[in-house]
Amino acid sequence: MGYKLSKIKKIHPLEPPCKKPMYNSAEEAQDVISYIRENRDGQAIHVYKCEVCGFWHLTSKSK
Ligand SMILES: [Zn+2]
Repeated sequence: MGYKLSKIKKIHPLEPPCKKPMYNSAEEAQDVISYIRENRDGQAIHVYKCEVCGFWHLTSKSK
C-alpha cells in the first residue's frame, strides 16, 4: 500500500513564537525595566502583553 501520512508535524517546542525576550508577568518585566533605566537613563520603556505568545514584552517608544 502506498499510503503516506500527509500530516507532517512541524513542532518546535523550544522555539518561541516571538524573538523578543519574554517575561512571565508584568512584575517580572517591570523588574527588567527598572534595571535598564538604571543603566540607560532617558529611555522610555513600556511593558505590554503580547497577543501572540501570551507573555510580556518590553518596548521602547521612540518619538
Ligand atoms: Zn510575543
